[in-house]
Order: sequence, then C-alpha cells, then structure tokens
Amino acid sequence: METIFSGIQPSGSLTLGNYLGAMKQFVELQEDYNCYFCIVDEHAITVPQDRLKLRKNIRELAALYIASGIDPNKATLFIQSEVPAHTQLGWIMQTQSYIGELERMTQFKDKSKGKEAVSSALLTYPPLMAADILLYNTSLVPVGNDQTQHLELTRDLAERFNNKYNDIFTIPQIKVSEVGARIMSLQEPTKKMSKSDVNQKATIYMLDEPKQIEKKIKSAVTDSDGVVRFDKEQKPGISNLMTILASCTNQTLEQIEEKYRGVGYGQFKQDVADAVVNELRPIQERFYQIIDSQELDDILDQGAEKASFVANKTLAKAKKAMGLGRVK
Ligand code: ATP
Ligand code: MG
Repeated sequence: METIFSGIQPSGSLTLGNYLGAMKQFVELQEDYNCYFCIVDEHAITVPQDRLKLRKNIRELAALYIASGIDPNKATLFIQSEVPAHTQLGWIMQTQSYIGELERMTQFKDKSKGKEAVSSALLTYPPLMAADILLYNTSLVPVGNDQTQHLELTRDLAERFNNKYNDIFTIPQIKVSEVGARIMSLQEPTKKMSKSDVNQKATIYMLDEPKQIEKKIKSAVTDSDGVVRFDKEQKPGISNLMTILASCTNQTLEQIEEKYRGVGYGQFKQDVADAVVNELRPIQERFYQIIDSQELDDILDQGAEKASFVANKTLAKAKKAMGLGRVK
C-alpha cells in the first residue's frame, strides 16, 4: 500500500478551505492508502502564537479530523511535536537547503511582508516540512495548490540528499485535487481563504454556526453582472462560490452554470449557504461529542507511538548516511 502524509497547522480555527481542500479528501484517501495525518504545531510557531490558544487549536484540529471521518484504525493521526524525529530530520534537511531557494518561497514572502521581526524558522519552514514528509517514506502528498511550491522543494531536497549520501528517501509525488483545491477569501476573492486571516468575514470556519455561515456568504464580494458563470479572472467572487457549491454538493461547475441560468445572485447565495451548512452539520455534531473525551487523547497517544516507530527508523538511516554520531 502506498503511503500518504499530510499536515495541517493548528494556527487558527479550521476553515472551509482546509476542509474542502484537504480534510474532505483525506477521508476518502484513508481507504486506499497508508495515511499519516499530522497536526503540525511546530510549523504553527514559525509565527507568534498565544500559548493557550495554540493548545486549544491543537485539540480542536485533532477532534475535527476525527469528526470529519478520519478513522484511527485506518490512518495514523498525531501531533508533530510529540514525535521528536521531525525536528531532528528537519535540522538535517536545513543543511541541504540554500538560503536563496528558501527566500523564493511565496509563503515566506507573504507571511513576512511588512513585518518588522520575522523568525528564522519562517524561512526554514520548508526543510521541516520536507522532513515531515520524508520520515514516512511517503509516496504521495495531497495538498491544496498553495503548497505545491513547498512540495517541489521537498522533492529537490530529497533528491539532493540521495545523490550526495545514499538512497534513503522516497521521492514523493504531489497530489492536488481539482475541485476545492483553492477556496478563496469571501471578501478578497483573489486571495486564498486562510485560517490566519484577521478578517473574520472573509472566512468560513468549520465550527461557524449556520446563521454566521449564511451571513458571511450573503455578504461575500461578487460583481454586478448578475450571471452565475465560472470565470476566475473576471468573476473571482462568483467563481469561488461556485467552487464551494460544487465541492459541497458533488455537482460540476457546468451543472451549476446550467442550473442558475436566469437565477439571481440572492437565490444562488442562499443555496451556497444551505449547502455549506448541510455539509458541516454532521461534522460539528460529532466534534462536540469528542472534543473533551479521553478517546481523543488515546487516539493521539497511539498515533504518536505508531508514527515514532517509523520515523525513528528513517532518521537513523539518514544520520548514518551522513556520518552523524557513532556506528552502533
Ligand atoms: P495558515 O494561514 O496558517 O497558513 P491555512 O489555512 O493556509 O493556514 P495550512 O495549515 O497552511 O492552512 O494548510 C492545511 C491544508 O489546507 C493544506 O493541505 C493546504 O493546501 C489546504 N488549504 C489551505 N487553505 C486552503 C484553501 N483556501 N483552499 C483549499 N485548500 C487549502
Ligand atoms: Mg497555509
């Protein structure tokens, strides 16, 4: 069975973008692949985090994975900082990375723009991400297309290491899903929806109440030509809402265009809101059942143990290949 690795940062409340672009896909993938789903808290601290909020976000993220349908008997769900091999191989991968290539990453540019103090870890985030993936002999990484640049770098670093030392790492393939690959901000639809966006109106959170969801979608920025048509350049707002509707109802964009011919934006937005509410309702119900449970802790303990077992083996091979430590 092929191995999949994917991580989500506990850097805020999960968004509809994270769900449609990542989690929803994961639930299907766990049936056919050996999956590792990681709560990448060490990535979250590349930008300042409040201690208590971070704790809460980590637990909520774990509960949302389970509530969305991740089955701990099929997939391994764990917290990055509970498996020390990640930072250890992360350091090794930093030794294989060039500052120039890290500075070219758009996420680094976006997240450091206008900031007075930027942590060096924001720059070295991609080598840690490479380590996350490479530790598990991952063959496939499913991501939204905001992450493809990091994935390409991961492949480069793995190849560089293999060529220089020994064939230790599996070179992972990138798997970008078509629908839902990039959900955009409701207020600035040319920018992606992000859990770390400060504008709450721009973002639908997985735990938003139905009323909030409806309100946010109804005030989403669109255009004035009144036609429901997919055109990312000319009509980014409507195109984004169409993508959301398509992902939540398993319709194609063509079917949606057809269905809303001659129908106004008011009705269209109402239908989008209803679809999102229906999609999230069962997840929210399950979330509130497990968020404070011992079951959730047990799942995370077992996940960390299973992940460590595999990760430590790869780490040991990489260290040996580089000549670190002693021969044992
Ligand atoms: P942050 O703003 O803190 O970077 P984020 O919302 O971008 O948060 P990540 O933790 O960086 O979330 O990414 C988690 C997963 O969600 C990744 O697989 C990423 O590709 C996917 N993802 C993030 N935002 C979107 C989006 N707007 N549309 C589709 N997929 C997304
Ligand atoms: Mg991100």
